[in-house]
Amino acid sequence: MTHDSALTHRELEDSPFSDFLGFELLLDDEDRELLSRVRAFMTREVEPVINAHWTRGAFPHELVAGLAELGIAGLAYDGPGCPARGALVDGMVAMELSRIDPSIGTFMGVHGGLAMGSIQLCGSDEQRERWLPAMARVELIGAFGLTEPDVGSAISQGLATSARRDGDGWVLNGEKKWIGNASFADLVVIWARDEDDGEVKGFVVEKDTEGMTFDVQQDKIALRVVQNAEIHLTDVHVPEVNRLQGATSFASTANVLRVTRMGVAWQAAGCARGAYEHALRYTKSREQFGRPIASFQLVQDLLVKMLSNVTASTAMNVRASQLQDAGLLRDEHASLCKVHSTVRMRETVGWAREVLGGNGILLEHHVGRFVADAEAIYSYEGTREMNTLIVGRAITGESAFV
Ligand SMILES: Cc1cc2nc3c(=O)[nH]c(=O)nc-3n(C[C@H](O)[C@H](O)[C@H](O)COP(=O)(O)OP(=O)(O)OC[C@H]3O[C@@H](n4cnc5c(N)ncnc54)[C@H](O)[C@@H]3O)c2cc1C
Repeated sequence: MTHDSALTHRELEDSPFSDFLGFELLLDDEDRELLSRVRAFMTREVEPVINAHWTRGAFPHELVAGLAELGIAGLAYDGPGCPARGALVDGMVAMELSRIDPSIGTFMGVHGGLAMGSIQLCGSDEQRERWLPAMARVELIGAFGLTEPDVGSAISQGLATSARRDGDGWVLNGEKKWIGNASFADLVVIWARDEDDGEVKGFVVEKDTEGMTFDVQQDKIALRVVQNAEIHLTDVHVPEVNRLQGATSFASTANVLRVTRMGVAWQAAGCARGAYEHALRYTKSREQFGRPIASFQLVQDLLVKMLSNVTASTAMNVRASQLQDAGLLRDEHASLCKVHSTVRMRETVGWAREVLGGNGILLEHHVGRFVADAEAIYSYEGTREMNTLIVGRAITGESAFV
């Protein structure tokens, strides 16, 4: 939905100060109102408490009800019970969450993007009816199990978790790694290779299913609030009605990743924007040589480079999300946005830390958390190298994948 009235100078001045070119004004009033509710929730409820959770490596389950009330789970999807608000506002909301805390942005990305997206894009009508309304209300929490201990980037070729047909169901065996939300999720989408035809298929494995156990990964240095788990699947019986009926090969998985990769590009822009905003505020209050450090030319140089990165990433992501809304988003579009936004994010959070001096490594100033969290966003949903190869193949017609 785009904002159709003429843009006024006043509106541009009123838009949040780090939305320098007023991208949020592309949204209609209803979507802007949603964005400001998300902003208010994240600022009031999340920001004051998140560092304590980050230190302990604990997930704030008490915040889930508030997130649910925002009505942002599966925001872009038009499945049963889903908000169907479109990709552009969905992306801006993802940016808004990560602007305050990338872990909460990731939690919602896994649940509302990857897990709901698997069911929306690969499920039958019955399966969408069965799970999506409760997931949109965040009464059921989802996880997405693709990566394995021995295979990450090469998952399309090397996925080893097996699915064997057994009467009116399936038996799954294998290991998964890095699966966000898995240890407390109500349902985990497990991608496994059918022993018969060798194709990758998706299975919704419900909580407490016998044979599925978890080890929550400890001592992460990034996204410490997100609970990532190794999943062990030993003769896990899944009924045929839980096999995603539209997932017939890895191409189906890739359809999900195309749209969620855009979400990660937006998260990266949000992470960079959050760090930039903290840095800007700090430079106005911190004085050295009798003047605010914001008055030094070299500091302004870094601030402007940060703002430029955030603005450029947002511009690319806006356009790609518009293409997604028009049904024109291609893999290479999402990959280009993910590469650009994550590379610029890493640069930006580093500069933000730099202008805080020593305080940049203290959690209480928040920027240190963005620096650490950026490292995970940089690598998940396809590393820079993998996404570069996708774009490279598209522009040259030559596949450089080995
Ligand atoms: C915090 C976090 C959360 C995650 N959440 C989930 C989740 O919820 N669900 C899920 O399924 N997965 C999840 N992942 C997994 C994530 O998608 C993988 O980490 C990612 O795909 C990279 O795989 P890998 O870590 O095994 O690295 P590897 O594939 O081992 O890659 C290691 C390095 O080698 C490079 N490389 C590999 N192949 C090539 C090549 N052909 N050419 C050039 N370079 C190459 C890579 O780019 C990378 O730099 C998560 C990961 C993290 C860190």
